[in-house]
Amino acid sequence: MYTPKSFLKGQWTQGSGDGIDLVNPTTGETIGHAFDGGLDLLGAMAWGREHGGRALRQMTFAERGALLKGWSRVIHNARDELLDLACVDSGNTRSDGKFDVDGAAGTLSYYAYLGKTLGDERILADGEAEPLTRSSARMVGRHWYVPRRGVAVHINAFNFPAWGLAEKAASAILAGVPVFVKPAVEASLVAARIVELWHEADLIPDGALQLYIGEPRDLLDHLQAQDVVAFTGSGETGRVVRTHPRVLELGIPVNVEADSVNAAVLGPDVQAGSDTFFMAIGDIVRDMTQKAGQKCTAIRRIVAPEDLVEPLVEMLGERLADAAIGDPADKVHRVGPLATAAQQRDINAGITALAAAHERVWGDPDACPNAGFFVAPQLFVARGGVDAALVHEREVFGPVASILPYSGDAQEAVDIVAKGGGGLVCSVYSDDRGWSADAIPGLMPWHGRVVWGSKKVANQGVGPGTVLPSFVHGGPGAAGGGEELGGLRGLRLYWQRTALQGDRGLIDKIMS
Ligand code: NAP
Repeated sequence: MYTPKSFLKGQWTQGSGDGIDLVNPTTGETIGHAFDGGLDLLGAMAWGREHGGRALRQMTFAERGALLKGWSRVIHNARDELLDLACVDSGNTRSDGKFDVDGAAGTLSYYAYLGKTLGDERILADGEAEPLTRSSARMVGRHWYVPRRGVAVHINAFNFPAWGLAEKAASAILAGVPVFVKPAVEASLVAARIVELWHEADLIPDGALQLYIGEPRDLLDHLQAQDVVAFTGSGETGRVVRTHPRVLELGIPVNVEADSVNAAVLGPDVQAGSDTFFMAIGDIVRDMTQKAGQKCTAIRRIVAPEDLVEPLVEMLGERLADAAIGDPADKVHRVGPLATAAQQRDINAGITALAAAHERVWGDPDACPNAGFFVAPQLFVARGGVDAALVHEREVFGPVASILPYSGDAQEAVDIVAKGGGGLVCSVYSDDRGWSADAIPGLMPWHGRVVWGSKKVANQGVGPGTVLPSFVHGGPGAAGGGEELGGLRGLRLYWQRTALQGDRGLIDKIMS
C-alpha cells in the first residue's frame, strides 16, 4: 500500500485521520491512503517564507538554474520508475506518462538554461535608468523585478502530476520564491516520488520546496501579504480560490489555469485527403486519445465547413478505431482509463447530455472494459453553430469531441469559437492566406495561444495540445485569465516590479 508523505519544514511527515483512498483507475482497487490530518500547514508556510526565501534570494540566477538542471536530471534518470507509477496511479499508458514526465524534465531544463543565461545577477532590471527631470542627470528612476518575500502556493490538477509540479516550480524557483505545492490528492504518487528523489539527491535548499499531500483544508487561510497563488483545475474551484477572503483582503496575486473548450477550425479551402486535412486529423485524434482526453489543451470542438463533416467523421472514426482502449500497462492499448471514479461519473454525465442534444456519429459508450474508470472515445456532430450552447459551455474532460458545421465564413468561425468564452489554445488549419488573415486575428484575443497548421508545416508541428515552456500557457475568460511559462514572462507572477528613484550612483551601488 502506498502512503505518500508530505514534506514540510524539512521533514517527511505523515498526517493523521482515516486516510483518503488512493485508487488504481485501471482496476478500481485501493492501492494506498493519504493521511492529511493535523499537519502544521501554517508553520510550514512560515518556514518556507523564512528559510526557503532567504536561501533562494542568496543564490544567483545561474545557481537557481543549476538547481533546476539537477531536478531535471533526477526526473530523467528515474523515468522508468515514474512511468510505472503513473500507470498505477493515474492509468497512464507509457506514452501518456512520457508526455507528463518528459514534459516536466524538459521544462525544468529549459528554465535551467534561462537561469544560466541570466548569470550572476540575483534580481532583474526592467529597462534602463531614466532621468526624472531635464535639469539633472543624477536623479533617475529605474524599474526592478524583486522576488516577493512570501511563498508560492501551487495547487495542481490531477492530470499532470509531474509537469504541473515542474512547470510552476521552475518559474517560482528561478524567480527566487519558495514553493509550497499541493498536488491533486487522488493522483499524488508521482509528484510525491519526484520530490522525494530531489530530496534524496540533496537538491532542495531548506524550505525552498515543500509538498503537502492532502485535501485543501485551511491551506488558503494561512496566506500572507507577500504570498502568491498559482492554481490549475476546474473553473469552479478557480473561482473559490480567487474569491477566498485572504486573497481579497490582502490583494494576493492569483494565477488561474482552468477549463477550456479548445477549438480546431478548418478553413473552407481544406480538401479531404490533403496534407492540411491530415494535420488536423492527427491533432484531433492525438488530443482525444492521449491521456484519455484529460488534457486541458485538448481539442473539444471541431469547427468545420459542412462539406468536410462526412470526410472528417470517416477519417477520425478510422483512426480512433485503431486506438485500442484497455489496461495501460499493456503496450497494445493506446487509451487508458480516466484518473478517478468522480471524473468517470462527470464525463459520463457530460456524454449523456451531449447525446440528448446532438448526434453521436462515432463510438460506442459500451465498448470499453467494465472494471476501472474507462470511457470509450466518442465523436458528436453538434449543429446550431453559436447556439449549440452545451458544446460551448461544458468541457467534457475525456476522449470526446464534437464537430460543429459552419458555412466557411471566417467571421462565423470566430463567432462560434468565441462562444467558448475564452480558451487556452485554438488551432486553425488553412492554406488560404486571405481567409486566415480574417480568421486568425479574430481568434487571437480569445486565446493564450493560436496554432496555424498549413501544408508546408504539416509534418513539423507538435500539435496544439503540447505546451512548450518558451510560449505562454493560459487563456482569457473561461480559461481562467492566467498566464504561465513563456520563458521569463512566467517569472513575473513571483516578482514585484518596483520603480526605484534616487541618485544614479547610489542606486547602481546597491542594486548591482
Ligand atoms: P479541481 O477539482 O478544481 O481540483 C484542482 C486542485 O484544486 C486540486 O489539487 C484540488 O485538491 C484543489 N482544490 C479543490 N478545492 C479546493 C479549494 N476549495 N481550495 C483550494 N484548492 C482546492 O480540478 P480537477 O478535477 O483536479 O482538474 C480538472 C480540471 O482542471 C479540468 O476542468 C481541466 O480543464 C482543468 N485543467 C486546467 C489546466 C490548465 O492548465 N488550464 C490544466 C489541467 C487541468 P484535491 O485534489 O484535494 O481535491
